[in-house]
Amino acid sequence: MLRIRGGKVYDPANNIDGVVRDICIDGGRIVETVEGGRTIDATGMVIMPGGVDIHTHVAGAALNFARAMTPENQRQATPFLRGPEQRAGIGGPTPTTFATGYLYAGMGYTTVIEAAVPVLSAKHTHEELRDTPIVDKGCCLLMANNEVVLDLLEAGEFERAKDVVAWLICAAKSYGVKAVNPGGVTAWKWGGNASQMSEPVLGYSKVTPNVIVSALAQIVDSLGLPHPLHLHCNNLGVPGNVTTTLETMKALEGNRAHMAHLQFHAYGGSDWHEMRSEAATIAEYFNAHPNLTADAGAVLFGNSVTITADGPWQHLLYQLTGRKWGNLDVENETGCGIVPYTYKGSNVVNAVQWAVGLELLLLIDDPWRIFLTTDHPNGACFWRYPEIIHLLMNADFRRERAKALPAKAQSRIVLPDLNREYTLSEIAIITSAGPARALGLSQKGHLGVGADADIAIYNENPDGVLMFRYPRYVIKEGEIAVEEGQIRSVSAGREFIVQPGYDPTVEDFLRPLFQQHYTMSFDNYPVEMHRLERAEVRDCQGAAT
Ligand SMILES: [Zn+2]
Repeated sequence: MLRIRGGKVYDPANNIDGVVRDICIDGGRIVETVEGGRTIDATGMVIMPGGVDIHTHVAGAALNFARAMTPENQRQATPFLRGPEQRAGIGGPTPTTFATGYLYAGMGYTTVIEAAVPVLSAKHTHEELRDTPIVDKGCCLLMANNEVVLDLLEAGEFERAKDVVAWLICAAKSYGVKAVNPGGVTAWKWGGNASQMSEPVLGYSKVTPNVIVSALAQIVDSLGLPHPLHLHCNNLGVPGNVTTTLETMKALEGNRAHMAHLQFHAYGGSDWHEMRSEAATIAEYFNAHPNLTADAGAVLFGNSVTITADGPWQHLLYQLTGRKWGNLDVENETGCGIVPYTYKGSNVVNAVQWAVGLELLLLIDDPWRIFLTTDHPNGACFWRYPEIIHLLMNADFRRERAKALPAKAQSRIVLPDLNREYTLSEIAIITSAGPARALGLSQKGHLGVGADADIAIYNENPDGVLMFRYPRYVIKEGEIAVEEGQIRSVSAGREFIVQPGYDPTVEDFLRPLFQQHYTMSFDNYPVEMHRLERAEVRDCQGAAT
C-alpha cells in the first residue's frame, strides 16, 4: 500500500488539472483510499500518469542488426541509471534490452509499443520484449506487404484476407496491425517501389497502395481491434510527399487509422533543393478528420540510426548519404533496412525536418490526437523527449533555436510564427493519456480508481528538460521502480496481445502455401504463449478478458 500525499495532480482523462490531492495505491492499482503503508510526501511536486510510447523500435531482429552494424555507437555515453538490481546493458541509439527498460522507466515511461514486427521473426521480438524490464509492452504486426494477403486482395477474396490477417495476429501474439509503405516493400524485392497510390503494385494488376490501405483499415475495424490500423505512408522522407499522405488519409474512407511519424510525411517541394514544410496543409486536413490519430516522429539534431521495414527508402537514404546500409529480406512478408544517420542543424533538409515535427505538434489543435514520439531511434533517441517537451512549452526558446537554422530553411517553415505553448496538462495528454486512449488501453494513461498504478512524479521546473529528464519517483504497478535516478525495483512488465476470431478452415488454406513458399514449417510458425512471461489478452473494447 502506498499514499502519495500533497502533489499537484495532472490527470487530463479525469479532468484534473494541477489539483493538489492524494493518490492511493493498493494491489498495483489506484484505489479510493488506503490505511497504513508507506507515504510519499510529494508536496510541491507534479504527478502525472506514466508515459505511454505509441511508436518505438526497441526489440527484434532489425534492432539486433542495427546494434551489430554500429559498434561505434555502443560506446556512446547514454544517461544510464544505476541501482542494485541493475543488469548489464549497452547504450547508444539502439540500447540492449535491459538498458531500454531502465531508460524508459527512468524517464517516467511505463508502457511502450514496438511498432514493427514480422510474424516470421516474432519469436525473437517476444524474447527481447520479455527481457525488457519494468515497462509494459505490445507490438504491431507488419501486414501491408504480406504476399498471402495481397494475393487474396488481388483475387477479390476480402473475407479470406480478413481471416488470414486475424490468424497472423494470433500467430504473432501482436496487439495491432501496421502497414509500412503499402506495396512498396513487396516491389522492393524486385528493386522497385510503390510511389503512386493508385498504380498497381509490381506483380499485381488490381492491388494498388490505395487498395491495401483501404482493405487493411476495414479489416482492423471489422475485427474490432482496440488500436486502429497503424499506418506508415508511402514515400516516407521524400520531398513533395504531402500529396501521397493526403491521398492515403482519403483512401481510409472514414475508417480509423493512426498515422505513424507524421513528420516524415509532411514535405513539399519537388526535389531536395526545394524541400519545404507542408505541416500546415497536413494539419488542416487532419484537424477536420476525427477518425485519425498521429504521432509526431519529431527530429532532433544529433546521431541516430534509421531502422524501418521500408526497404526501398533505406536504399535511397544510403545513396543520398553514403553511410553504411543494411538490408534484410523477410520472405513473403516484409523487408527491413538500416542506415546510421546524423541530423545536422546546418543542413537545410534536416533543419526543415526539425521544424516540421514541432509544427505538427503545435498546429494539430487537439492534443488527444497527436502524440510525442521521435520514431525512436529514427528521428532521435527516446531519452531526448524532454528536449521536445521544453520546445513545446516555450515559444521564445523555440524562436531562438529557429533563428540559428540556415536562412533557406527559415524561409520554408512556419515554426517561428507559432505562439502556442503547451501546458503541463497538454504534456500529460501527448505523452500518456492520448496514446493510451488511441491504443484502447483503458487502465493506462490516467489516475482514476481502477487504473494501473503507473505514475511519474516530477520536481516542478520551468526548464522542461530538467523537469522531465529525471523524475523524482517512478511507480510501476504500485512499486517504486525509480527514485532519484536510482533503480529501486525491477519487475517484469506485462505484454498486451489481442486474439481476434477467424474461420478455423483458414489453416487448411495456409498450410500448403507454407510448404510451397516458406523456409519455416507451418507448425513452427506461431509464437507459443509460454514465450510471453506475462501476457494479457485484450478484447475489442480494450478491456482485459
Ligand atoms: Zn517507426
